[in-house]
Parts: sequence; structure tokens; C-alpha cells
Amino acid sequence: MVTSVRVIFEGWLSRQDDVLLEAHSTSTLVVTEGHNVLVDTSTKQQRSPLLQGLKAAGLRPEDIDILINTHLHPDHTGNNDLFTPASKMARSEEHPDASFMCITEDAEILPGIRLMHTPGHSRGSMSVVVETDGRRCVIAGDAIPTRDNLEKWRPPMIHYDRSVALDSMRRIVELADVIIPGHGKAFEPDPRSRTKR
Ligand SMILES: [Zn+2]
Repeated sequence: MVTSVRVIFEGWLSRQDDVLLEAHSTSTLVVTEGHNVLVDTSTKQQRSPLLQGLKAAGLRPEDIDILINTHLHPDHTGNNDLFTPASKMARSEEHPDASFMCITEDAEILPGIRLMHTPGHSRGSMSVVVETDGRRCVIAGDAIPTRDNLEKWRPPMIHYDRSVALDSMRRIVELADVIIPGHGKAFEPDPRSRTKR
């Protein structure tokens, strides 16, 4: 059972017009009765606030036993090296190295924690669906980089297929009570956005 979901580092991105200037992913901690699961590790530049966030949650890097990367772009994996004892998971389409457990299908990896393939931004993008306190939280990675994408119904700026990306957004919105986007504040999706396509 999941006991808590907590953003330990809130990511952000800056862009000018359609040019991405800087991006640092969010890093989220999911605690269950027996495991500490971390989703994404942001960038090297954010190592110190990430460690502070972990410390504020009462944990050291070696306490993380499962590390999930929503995908393998460098702004989501920059501090993976801090968590070497953890089992690492990424989708096979991301071509992870041999240190990763290669995920090929949607699965419940622990009670209350499910992996869901949400491609579009990259072929192997996946979201982590967490059930806690009767609510469903979706840690979306860059399937939904910011709240703005959802409100304007725009696919992630970087995508290999627009309709696949929008379909992933739609599937996430249908499920989620709360969304933790790849780069920005967690939010409750507007129920009206569920009917968009
Ligand atoms: Zn990305």
C-alpha cells in the first residue's frame, strides 16, 4: 500500500517563443509500506535541492530501492548516479543500458503503483499511476510537461507524433485526480479537459 506521494524537487522549464532554453525535471518520492520509490532525478545542477528534498522526507539516497525514469532524456536522469543500489526501471523503447530493468508492458510493480506507457514525447515515455487515500495521482513525466499543455490542449513541444502524444494526454486526464507533470506544479485537472481531444 502506498503511504505517501511527495514531490521532493519541483522541476521547471523556460522557453522563449518555441525555443526551449532550460529544463529540469520534477523528482517525486512514493513511499509504500516496504519500499521507497523515486520517479526521475532531474539534472546535475539541481543535485543539491534534490538531496535537500530527500532529506526533508527523512531519507538518504541509499534508502531509495526503486528508481523509475519516465524516459531517458538527460533532464530526467541527471542524478541517477546517486541511487546506484536501487533497481532502475525504464521502458525498452528508451534503449536503457544493462543496469536497468527493461519495461515492456504496463504492470503493477507494487500494490498501488502501476506503470503506464504514455508515448508521444518519446517512444518509451511512461507514467506512474499511484493510488493513495482513495485518490489517483499520475506522475506523467513529459507526457504532460506542464499544466499549460493540458489547459491549451497542446502536445509536449518535443514530440515524435502529435496524435499519439495527445492520446496519451487524454488517457492520463481520464484517470487522474491529481497530475504531477514533468516540469511544474502538481495540479488537479479540470474535469472539462477530460472531454477534449
Ligand atoms: Zn523529455
